[in-house]
Amino acid sequence: MSQNIALKLARPNILKLKPYSSAREEFTGNEAIFLDANESPFNKPWNRYPDPFQQRLRQRIADMKGVKRENIILGNGSDETIDMLFRTFCEPAKDQVISVNPTYGMYKVSAGINGVEYKAVTLNPDFSLPVDEILSLVSTTTKLLFLCSPNNPTGNCFADEEMIRLLNGFPCLVVVDEAYVDFSTGGSWVKKLDQYPNLVVLQTLSKAWGLAAIRLGMAFASIEIIDLMMKVKPPYNVNTLTQEKAYQALSDPAVVNKRISTIIAERDRLRNSLKELPVVQKVFDADANFFLVKVENPDEMYEYLVKRGVIVRNRSKEALCEGCLRITVGSDGQNNYLLQAIKQYPATENDITLKQSWEKVSDWLVTPERKAVRHRKTKETDIRVEINLDGNSKADIQTGLGFFDHMLDQISRHSGCDLSVKVNGDLHIDEHHTLEDTSIALGEVFAESLGDKKGIERYGFALPMDDCAALVLLDFGGRPELVWKAKFKREKVGELPTEMFEHIFKSFAIGARCNLYIKAKGENEHHKIEAIFKALARAIRMAVKREAGADTLPSTKGLL
Ligand SMILES: *Cc1c(COP(=O)(O)O)cnc(C)c1O
Repeated sequence: MSQNIALKLARPNILKLKPYSSAREEFTGNEAIFLDANESPFNKPWNRYPDPFQQRLRQRIADMKGVKRENIILGNGSDETIDMLFRTFCEPAKDQVISVNPTYGMYKVSAGINGVEYKAVTLNPDFSLPVDEILSLVSTTTKLLFLCSPNNPTGNCFADEEMIRLLNGFPCLVVVDEAYVDFSTGGSWVKKLDQYPNLVVLQTLSKAWGLAAIRLGMAFASIEIIDLMMKVKPPYNVNTLTQEKAYQALSDPAVVNKRISTIIAERDRLRNSLKELPVVQKVFDADANFFLVKVENPDEMYEYLVKRGVIVRNRSKEALCEGCLRITVGSDGQNNYLLQAIKQYPATENDITLKQSWEKVSDWLVTPERKAVRHRKTKETDIRVEINLDGNSKADIQTGLGFFDHMLDQISRHSGCDLSVKVNGDLHIDEHHTLEDTSIALGEVFAESLGDKKGIERYGFALPMDDCAALVLLDFGGRPELVWKAKFKREKVGELPTEMFEHIFKSFAIGARCNLYIKAKGENEHHKIEAIFKALARAIRMAVKREAGADTLPSTKGLL
């Protein structure tokens, strides 16, 4: 198969097309007075169009996946990349695509929208690929083969040998949709792009990455295929907010990897528990964050669960899925509730235990987690701060400055938050950058984890007395400000210069966008600064406190 397969398959009008050239494309420098795109000079940075080629984000993805940036095109969700494939390669009312049944519904819908014939071959009863049947359908007008692996809704990966037979035997593009690859043991086909010039791999941030809201889909393919799709892509299809949020998330894969292992462990626990229940006839294998469950009366079970506040997907009318519901793996509490509900099927309406349990569940249905992670890397410091406002005072602090560690430990201990702070700073120069940048990052995770601030107390105050008195007043009202009334006579406490103390709290106030009033008195300098940190932590504890389920904003202005 020649590298030119892309050019052979592309629609003639696309080959000839001279793509739209945006202002941001014709001049790509950063520092200039931009009077070329009819943008407003006000409202920075949102006044500017996003980078039409998402170079920074694509480079990050390229580094992560071990491909070149030129092998990647991004879409407003992978649904957009699917549509781009149709518009690049399939002539309406003439060409056709092939897929399998059952599978993800968008291939067929996208074919319909684009006026392209869609042919589907039913999978083998064990959900494996009917390779010969697929190959026998191919004609001169077949352009694309869509395979979803792990497949939605069956949850299985297709065997490598079958995939390789199709990649070698299919004279068109083979699109492998890997929306769920992060949950599978199968590994990604992205690494095989060099071997198969007709391979297109789709991935998304919507599932394992937990970012369905931002809409970011990725397609990986040969440079020739990507170049053609680039001609078709709307100029600014991925907005700036999405590009930034995606870049930030991709910079910290450890967080996501932890979530993936949690979901996989929960999946297996849920599957095993369901197998024990008499109403469950079969629990299917799963290489994704969902799986099929066969029950005797799927429609009834579906309605029964809806009445109890749990929505699963009824797939019982799909080929090979008779009797099946598709269940997405949730959090442990959600899964327990589901298990309890199914266990009690067919319970009566006034089932007391389930009702009590629902009251608990409905709490965390409206009460989102309050966690945040910040990774801040500059020439001077490399900082990672992670917080859970609703934690248990678990602290893991390593800033390289023993006394500062001790102070941050106080914040976690006395506020109740889980706090992890890892800093690699230029301490060989001095403590300034480490203290400043860490304090800003710490403030930022508070601001982010507070989210929309609904239901919080907002204000906090504390006055701990040992041999020192420290007063801290705190308002998470959105305005960064510090009033500092504490004097230190010694030059240093531990290895911390006392002249930096005010700066630490100022930086925190800026990061957290909070109002801080700090006053302290006392003879012992060590105790005095410790009392301030303790009082701050106590004030935080009070201010972040949230009424379970409350959703009012603690402000008469309706905005914080
Ligand atoms: C969920 C899903 C997607 C995701 O599409 P986005 O538009 O990226 O959210 C893609 N393919 C399959 C098979 C899916 O199940």
